Amino acid sequence: MNAAQYLRKSRMEEGMDTEEVLARHRKALAAFAAAHDIHITETYYEVVSGESLYARPEMLRLLEDVEDGRYDAVLVMDLDRLSRGRMKDQGIILDAFRDSGTLIVTPEKTYDLSDDLDDEMAEFKTFMSRREYKIINKRLRRGLKQTIQDGCYVANAPYGYRKVTVDRKPTLEIYEPEAKFVRMMYDLYLQGYGCVSIARYVNSLGAKPHRSAEFTRNSVAHILRNPTFAGKIVWDQKTHIRKGAKGNPKHITICNPREQWTIVDGIHPAIVSQETYDQVQAILAGRYHPSRRDGTVRSALAGVVLCANCGQHMQRVTMRGTPYLLCTKPGCCASTRFELVEGRILTYLEDALAQLELEHQAGTGRNTAVLDSTLAAVQKELAAAQRQKSRLYELLELGEYDLSTFRERLGAVREKIAGLERLRRETERTLEQARLAASDSLAGKIRGVLDAYGAADAAGRNAMLKGVLDAVWYEKKKKTAPADFQLRFDLKPF
Ligand SMILES: [Zn+2]
Repeated sequence: MNAAQYLRKSRMEEGMDTEEVLARHRKALAAFAAAHDIHITETYYEVVSGESLYARPEMLRLLEDVEDGRYDAVLVMDLDRLSRGRMKDQGIILDAFRDSGTLIVTPEKTYDLSDDLDDEMAEFKTFMSRREYKIINKRLRRGLKQTIQDGCYVANAPYGYRKVTVDRKPTLEIYEPEAKFVRMMYDLYLQGYGCVSIARYVNSLGAKPHRSAEFTRNSVAHILRNPTFAGKIVWDQKTHIRKGAKGNPKHITICNPREQWTIVDGIHPAIVSQETYDQVQAILAGRYHPSRRDGTVRSALAGVVLCANCGQHMQRVTMRGTPYLLCTKPGCCASTRFELVEGRILTYLEDALAQLELEHQAGTGRNTAVLDSTLAAVQKELAAAQRQKSRLYELLELGEYDLSTFRERLGAVREKIAGLERLRRETERTLEQARLAASDSLAGKIRGVLDAYGAADAAGRNAMLKGVLDAVWYEKKKKTAPADFQLRFDLKPF
């Protein structure tokens, strides 16, 4: 069971050292969780002790996450920690847990508020009368909406922001280590980069989103669409359908279409200007975004061209409708129009083919692998014969051999060595000829690529290039002419 824990002092502990009390609770809950197979994934650590819900930022964050259905349960020392506060606040807390089907787990007892018949529910209700709850809850929902319409921010802080309380109102402050990446995403998008490239780029710079390991096309698109970054607050982005309300076994969250959103001016600072935001929305609206996560190859050069400077794979990126080849490492090397690089590679292959055909005329066909192993064997035998020869001198010196025996043996070894050396020279010559001949098979492949390239799609072209090229190394200095780039080629070994 995945659970969050909410730590907060109770009335009884008023006046005691907060850190000390909460550390003790944390320890107790950890022990309880371990004993009951509960996995604590998040801790809400309330150090401020306001009576109003809005003076309890961690509780607001917890409620938001509970409404999202992020946890199976929330672990607290006792109900008092959650419910303490004004009557109307208790209503919204109860509601969040009941609607999402999230359990409240205390070391003493587990409460399932989604079950109206549960007598635990009855126990919870002793905190307020049902009638009271209904009236208050309605008022509170209105109050929450009013808070948002007043420009206050009650949900989790989006990337680039942190939640703060200003004049007792919840709002956001800019968190610069993240905000700089938000600005970068908007800027790059306006420059014509797509969400995938932007995600790769900010990931390479070490940007990390709040709830996952790295940015993706979707999370970048989400940031580009979120009006919060232009200083707005959005309401009605989601509809929650209660567990069991329409026969659904679970709490369901529906994302509402944009037309149904209520957007108001927030009191928090904007990270991007309204103008930038509007420009990005205009491009987003006019641009068709096919899913890039279907594994299809869209670049004929994918995985083929590497940056000679940093060794990264060069990426195909569309800027103002024109595809470019780009090193995603910032400031590494200048980009070039995709077509130019692709054209240069094909020219190289044509040249290489011509060269191979020339070499082929001198060669004969043979299997080089067999010759390779023959050569290795001959060399090994040669080395052994040489060792044998020096051993003969040793034996002579030691008096083991008389001179005539020594001469006889030496003559035999010399003859053996001469024979082996002859064999080695022959093998080497044959091998060289065979290599030239084998290059014909590469030539055949290259010819095939050049013949079929024009008619193939990106994936086909990519497969063909990978069949004949190990790598193409790309290099281009900044501020040089468009065609002033260098390529180095690693052809497949024969
Ligand atoms: Zn590079």
